[in-house]
Amino acid sequence: MKKQRSSAQVVKRSSERTPTGHSITGPLDHLATLRSLPSVDKLLESEALKPVLGCVHRRMAVRTIRAYLDELRQKIQAGETAAYAQDELVRRLERERKPTLTRAINGLGVILHTGLGRAPLARVAQEALADASEHFSSLEIDLETGRRGSRYRHIEPLLCELTGAEAAMVVNNNCAATLLILSGLAKGKEAIVSRGQLIEIGGAFRIPDVMMQSGCKMVEVGTTNRTHLRDYKNAVTPETALLLRVHTSNYKITGFTKEVSLEELVALARESHVLVVDDLGSGALVDLSKYGLPKEPLVQDSVKAGADVICFSGDKLIAASQAGIIVGKKKHIDLLKKHPLTRALRCGKLTYAVLERTLELFLDEERVVKEHALFQLLLKTPAQMQSEARGLLRRVQADLKDKVEFAVKPALSEIGGGSLATESLESRVVAIRPKTMHVDELARRMRLNRPPVFGRVEKGVYVLDFRTLRRDEIPVIAAALLVAFQQ
Ligand SMILES: *Cc1c(COP(=O)(O)O)cnc(C)c1O
Repeated sequence: MKKQRSSAQVVKRSSERTPTGHSITGPLDHLATLRSLPSVDKLLESEALKPVLGCVHRRMAVRTIRAYLDELRQKIQAGETAAYAQDELVRRLERERKPTLTRAINGLGVILHTGLGRAPLARVAQEALADASEHFSSLEIDLETGRRGSRYRHIEPLLCELTGAEAAMVVNNNCAATLLILSGLAKGKEAIVSRGQLIEIGGAFRIPDVMMQSGCKMVEVGTTNRTHLRDYKNAVTPETALLLRVHTSNYKITGFTKEVSLEELVALARESHVLVVDDLGSGALVDLSKYGLPKEPLVQDSVKAGADVICFSGDKLIAASQAGIIVGKKKHIDLLKKHPLTRALRCGKLTYAVLERTLELFLDEERVVKEHALFQLLLKTPAQMQSEARGLLRRVQADLKDKVEFAVKPALSEIGGGSLATESLESRVVAIRPKTMHVDELARRMRLNRPPVFGRVEKGVYVLDFRTLRRDEIPVIAAALLVAFQQ
């Protein structure tokens, strides 16, 4: 509010001064343009904006309008050409339509898309979430004694049973888990990592940066494509705290390559009295290769191989809530539980509610495969996707036949979230080539639908991938397409 007033005052003062000196055309032009800007109140009352203003909270609308007018004023004062454009304001107001966080329809084909919040939850987890949010909860109370207990008890026995580990804990996400482990176990000491594993995950998670932040000294060994056991061996000094293995989740080095196995690292670590830490990334609990899917390393295998501490995400292949799960030897986990950072990285009751119920599902593999939303998407068959894609076509083809070329096609989709990076799953897509508008405009209109619909744009074609779409979303997508072509 202040900002707007002060800029208005600046305008007035300069208008008083202009006649006595300044170049005539420039500032006067500016003033005329400035005066032609509508006022906030006028816009709030405007008939043309009524529909969009009906969907935005009034205070947020005032804020958006004010910011837009301020921006125009600054541009005009800087001598740029700028004028009020209703379309642009509508666009900005639409971005504020409440609530801004809504469900979304994922036609991108990427199941674990971080931008779309990663995987949907299992039904039992959704119910637990509703229950935990409605009521008080037994988050950190020991029911026997009535005293303050440990929130880890909701997930620790489950994780130990599922992975074979001695102990477990949970923090905010896997990035936090890595940071905590390195801070807790290697601060001021050396951590050895292969150059082939110095990964960057989307959102600026970079192993070298996390290591630096944790206060440990990163010792890189080997080369990008080949690292040998002797490289690690030669790098171990009395200052070494641990050997870090990082799963190269989102890329693959192929060709002339060599990686040291976890078993070999463990053997070397035992000999040298240092620890092995394994950042698994996705952390699969079910062997996906049994279901014809590409293989992702199992947490159980890392435990069996003897890694001292292992971490993985709660919302990648476990598809629970955002969380970083740490399992391993009790001695080290106990140390991490007491670390000062742990309090800063801890999760709340909603996370525990979702994690507990989801992990419970994994106790029974048959059940998790049948009931978990993630597996329903992972295990969709081409025939199923083909039939859904045809279902969408049936609903829109007749109405849009003059405006669009349609095709149902086979395609490859990825799991995403840094899982099974280089592997693709066969899927079926509806390819839509718009004839009456640019494909980017179609994609935009679909995104502005309520709920927003996300599709891939590929060489002039808008692609909806049925790997990630559900049958019950077909009518919504069809309606969105019809509206998009009506505008
Ligand atoms: C995804 C990933 C992370 C980051 O996990 P978040 O849960 O997203 O914080 C860290 N390390 C590896 C190897 C990953 O694949």
